[in-house]
Amino acid sequence: SLPAGPLSVTMQHVSFRYEVQEPVLHDISFSLAPGQVLGLLGRTGSGKSTLARLLFRLYDPISGSIQFADTDLRTLALDDIRSHIGMVTQDIQLFQASIRDNLTFFSPQVSDEQIMQVLTTLKLRTWLASLPNGLDTMIGANGQGLSAGESQLLAFARVFLKDPGLVVLDEASSRLDPATEALLEQALDQLLAQRTGIIIAHRLQTVQRANFILLLDQGNIIEYGPRLSL
Ligand code: ATP
Ligand code: MG
Repeated sequence: SLPAGPLSVTMQHVSFRYEVQEPVLHDISFSLAPGQVLGLLGRTGSGKSTLARLLFRLYDPISGSIQFADTDLRTLALDDIRSHIGMVTQDIQLFQASIRDNLTFFSPQVSDEQIMQVLTTLKLRTWLASLPNGLDTMIGANGQGLSAGESQLLAFARVFLKDPGLVVLDEASSRLDPATEALLEQALDQLLAQRTGIIIAHRLQTVQRANFILLLDQGNIIEYGPRLSL
C-alpha cells in the first residue's frame, strides 16, 4: 500500500477516451517528485478534468500507465488510492446538513477541536462566528446559502481534515470577491506546503506555485517543463 506523506506521481504515455468517442488524452507523460506541484493549463474541453479523474482512478487509461510512489495504480486498491488524494472538483458536492457534517462526511470520529483547528488555519473563524449556529448551521443541498468561494473554502477544509499526500485541485472559474480570493490563496499555500499538488488553474496567481507547467490542447501536450519565473 502507499506510504504516508507527499507522493511521487508519474504518467507514462497515457491515452484515454470516453466510451466510443475520439481519444480526449493522447500520450500524456509527466513526472513529479514528492512535494512538487504541477500547474495544468488549457482551454475548455482540452482534457484537464479528465486527467484529474484518471488520477482518482474513476477510469483507467486505454494505454500507458500511472504511478504513485512508483506503484502502478492498477495494482493498488481503490480505497488506498483515494485515501491518499484530496480532490477538489469544479462542482463541489455539499449535502443538506450542518457545516460540521459537511466537513466530516458525517463521521463522529472527527472532533470539533480538529475542525476548529483547521478553520483557524484557513482563517475561517471570523466567518464561522458570523453564522447563526456555528458548526451546527445548516446548509442546503449543493451548498445553497453559501457563496462559490465559501464552498471552495469548505472543500479545502475537507482536504485538511483528510490530510492526504496528494492534492488535486480543479479550480472553479467563478469570479470571487477579493477578500475570499485572498483567503483561498493563503489556504492553497498551506495545503500545498507538505504535499504533492496537481492544480488546474484559471487564475495566473494560482499557477505561480507550480514547479512545472503542462499545457494541454485537445488532449495533446503543447508544452511541458519547469515554470519560468518572470
Ligand atoms: P474545462 O476547462 O471546461 O473544465 P476540461 O479541460 O476540464 O474543460 P474535460 O472535462 O476533461 O475538459 O473534457 C475533455 C473532453 O472530454 C471534452 O471534449 C468533453 O466534451 C469530453 N468529456 C468530458 N467528460 C465526458 C464524459 N463523462 N463522457 C464523455 N465525454 C466527456
Ligand atoms: Mg474541467
